[in-house]
Amino acid sequence: MTMIDPPPKTLTAPTRTTGEHRSYSQLSAYERCPYAYYLTRMRDDIEERPDAWRPHGTALHAAAEFWERSGRTASRTAVEEKFTEVYKAEINAELERVPNLDYWAWSGGIKAEDDIPRRLALGLAQVGYYIDYYGLNPDQQPWTTPEGEPAIEHRLEVDLGGVRVVAIVDMILSHPKHGIIVRDNKISNPPAGSHQLCVYAVVTNEVYGTAIDLGDYWVGKKGKPGRIRHLAGRSGEQCTPDYLGNQFAKLDANIKAGNFPPNPSGTTCRSCSVNAHCPFRAI
Ligand code: SF4
Repeated sequence: MTMIDPPPKTLTAPTRTTGEHRSYSQLSAYERCPYAYYLTRMRDDIEERPDAWRPHGTALHAAAEFWERSGRTASRTAVEEKFTEVYKAEINAELERVPNLDYWAWSGGIKAEDDIPRRLALGLAQVGYYIDYYGLNPDQQPWTTPEGEPAIEHRLEVDLGGVRVVAIVDMILSHPKHGIIVRDNKISNPPAGSHQLCVYAVVTNEVYGTAIDLGDYWVGKKGKPGRIRHLAGRSGEQCTPDYLGNQFAKLDANIKAGNFPPNPSGTTCRSCSVNAHCPFRAI
């Protein structure tokens, strides 16, 4: 990561606390650009640019969870209704916050006013793909935790590197070929690496004493999981509690120290939801 040195001297005092736990989402956001982390997560007075893909992702997760928690018995119509209900609620909340659609992010050249109805239709199709995929592969089931719970959107909390880390794992899956793995649902292309899956696996292993070292992404765009992955850290490091503990300890220390240097690049800044508020943007 290229850092600007010295870091900005104009940081306004954060209007939010640093929080009591850390997560993969925080780790990944800080790695991308610490200054964007500060603007989006530490300041209430900065208007983040809304988009339609986050409501799409939230609604697909909610629909999948609803269907899984029904023991995969809920009707297709009921699952579609769940998707629509959550998607509309999320979009409406964002519209209330930022009514001007011209300020919303575009998606691959599609403006928000077209992207919002497009993603409703796309998401409903993906709900169908999800049900169809597991209908064809009924031997892939949510793992049952020792507490007797199906491991869906499963919240786990552990200490790594002296830091409280929380993970909400989309699914801990009992796989007929690979044993117990972690699976994350994505609406579109998954990342190249497996860092996020590594965090989920390590947290699960710490809590339950499992030995998960494989994971995959179920991809809504394709209606099926991508390749199975041997889990690794951000740059291919061994996926271990020590490795992650080190990562989370550094993140926690940087956040508590108010260390938020900008990390500008054309690609990062173009898709940054707070670039309108950033004096360091590279676009
Ligand atoms: S515009 Fe670029 S440098 Fe500024 S916060 Fe966003 S990603 Fe960071």
